Amino acid sequence: MPFIENAAALIGADHVLTGPDAAGLSQDWTGAYQWTPLCVLRPGTTGEVSALMALAHETGTPVVPVSGNTGLSGGTRADGAAMLSLDRMSRIREIRTKTRLAIVEAGVVVETLRNTAAEQGLMFPVSFGAQGSARIGGILSTNAGGSNVLRYGNTRAQVLGVEVVLADGRVMDLMSELHKDNTGYDLRDLVIGAEGTLGIITAAVVKLVPAPQTHATAMVAPRDLDAALALLGRLQTISGGLVEAFEYMPRDYIETHVARVPGAREPFDAPHAVNVMVEMAGPGDIGGMLETELAAALERGEIADATIAQNDTQRREIWARREAAAEIAFARSPRVTTDIALPLDRLSSFFDRVRPVLGDLDPGVTDTCVAHLGDGNIHFVVYPTRDEPTLADAVVQAVEGVVGDLGGSFSAEHGIGTSKLPSMQRLKNPVALDVMGAIKAAMDPKGILNPGKLLP
Ligand SMILES: Cc1cc2nc3c(=O)[nH]c(=O)nc-3n(C[C@H](O)[C@H](O)[C@H](O)COP(=O)(O)OP(=O)(O)OC[C@H]3O[C@@H](n4cnc5c(N)ncnc54)[C@H](O)[C@@H]3O)c2cc1C
Repeated sequence: MPFIENAAALIGADHVLTGPDAAGLSQDWTGAYQWTPLCVLRPGTTGEVSALMALAHETGTPVVPVSGNTGLSGGTRADGAAMLSLDRMSRIREIRTKTRLAIVEAGVVVETLRNTAAEQGLMFPVSFGAQGSARIGGILSTNAGGSNVLRYGNTRAQVLGVEVVLADGRVMDLMSELHKDNTGYDLRDLVIGAEGTLGIITAAVVKLVPAPQTHATAMVAPRDLDAALALLGRLQTISGGLVEAFEYMPRDYIETHVARVPGAREPFDAPHAVNVMVEMAGPGDIGGMLETELAAALERGEIADATIAQNDTQRREIWARREAAAEIAFARSPRVTTDIALPLDRLSSFFDRVRPVLGDLDPGVTDTCVAHLGDGNIHFVVYPTRDEPTLADAVVQAVEGVVGDLGGSFSAEHGIGTSKLPSMQRLKNPVALDVMGAIKAAMDPKGILNPGKLLP
C-alpha cells in the first residue's frame, strides 16, 4: 500500500484511517450508497492537503473530499478512493465585525459559525436541517440552499473568497475580502457548486449580515398554493422584503410528522390541505405587521387559519416541524426523491399536471413534498407501489418532463452527485456539458478528483 504509507509519512499515521477505523465514512446519510474507501485522510492544514494531492496526482489515486457527509445525492461515494476529510480543519480564523465577514477553514460546522457570529450580533444566513453536521466545504461545494434563500440567496451569494487545492497540489489563493473584484474569469464561483470535482476547498471568506432583532413566525393555512403565493407577495411588499422563510407542507406531511415524531402536534384544530410556515425578521414591530396582514387575509377568505408563535418555544416547535422533512420523506419506501425548482407562478400547475401522469404509470402511486415555496424549490417525493428500477426511472422522467415543460430545473440545491447523473445526461444542454468536460480536463487532467460525480 505505498499510497497509504506515503500519506502517513506526510500527515502522521494517526490521521490516516483504514479498515474498521474508516467504517464511519462508508455510507452516505440516506444509506442508499455504501462503499469501502481505500482510506480516510485527515489533514490538519492547507499545506498537508496540498502535499496529499500532489501524492495522489503522482500516483493517480482517486480522492473524494468529504465534509459533514450529509449530502443527499451520493456525492461522497468513494469505492476504493482515498476520502479526504476536512474535519480537523475546523478553525474560525477571524470574525470581522466592522466589515461583517468571517474567515473560516473548510471544516467549520455551519451551526458553529452561526452561533459564533450570533455572539457578535451577526448572522451567517445559510440555514437548513443538517446545519449541525454540514461543514463550510460541503455547503460551498454543493452551493447549498436552505430555508433563507428567499431573503439572502444561496451559499454562493455569501462567499467573497476561497482557498482551493488543485488536483496536482497547487494552492489557488482567492481569499478575497472584496465585494467587487473583476479580474478575469470567476474561478471562485466555478469552484463553488463543483462538488469536489475541480479542487479541494480548504478555506473561505464568507459574508455575515446583522442578526435580526426580532422574528415573527407563524403557521398559516392558505386556501391553495396561489393564495399562499399572493400572501407572500403582500408580506414582501408591506415589509420591504423581510420574509426570511416561506415553507410549504401538505396535509400528508403533517400527518406523517404527527404519527412518527414523539410529541409532535397538529398546527391547527382542523386539518388543512395547504400548510405554510412563514418567518419574518427585522427591526420594528414585525409581529404586529404579520398579525395585521394575516387577519386581513382571514377576512378575505384567502387563508383558513393562522397561528403566530408567542414565544421562542413555540417558534422552535414550528421550525422542528419543518426540519423533520428529511426524516418524513425517508419514512416510507419504495420512494423516488426529487429536488426540483420551478418558476413561482407555475408551482400549482406542477402538482395539477404531474399527478395524472404519475397515476397513468402506477395507479396506486402516492406522493408527499416539502417546499421552499418562496424560492420555488420543491422536494417532491413519490412513493410507487412497486420497488422496480424501471418504474422508478419512469417516475423520474415523468416528473422531469413536467418540470421541463414548465421551465423548471431537475436540480435545485442538493447537487448532482451520483444520483442525478442520468438526468444530467438527458437534460443538460449538450454544449454546456462539453464546456464542463473541457474545464474538468484542464483542471484535473488525470480525473482523480471525485471521479464519476456531477459529469455524466
Ligand atoms: C436533514 C437534512 C436536511 C437537509 N436540508 C438541506 C436544505 O435545506 N438545503 C440544501 O441545500 N441541502 C440540504 N441538505 C443536504 C446537505 O446537507 C447539503 O448538501 C450540504 O451542503 C452538504 O454539506 P456536507 O458538509 O455534509 O457535505 P458532504 O456531504 O460531505 O459533501 C457534499 C459534496 O461536496 C463535496 N465536498 C465536501 N467537502 C468539500 C471540500 N472541502 N472541497 C471540495 N468538495 C467538497 C463532496 O465530495 C460531495 O460531493 C440536507 C441534508 C439533510 C441530511
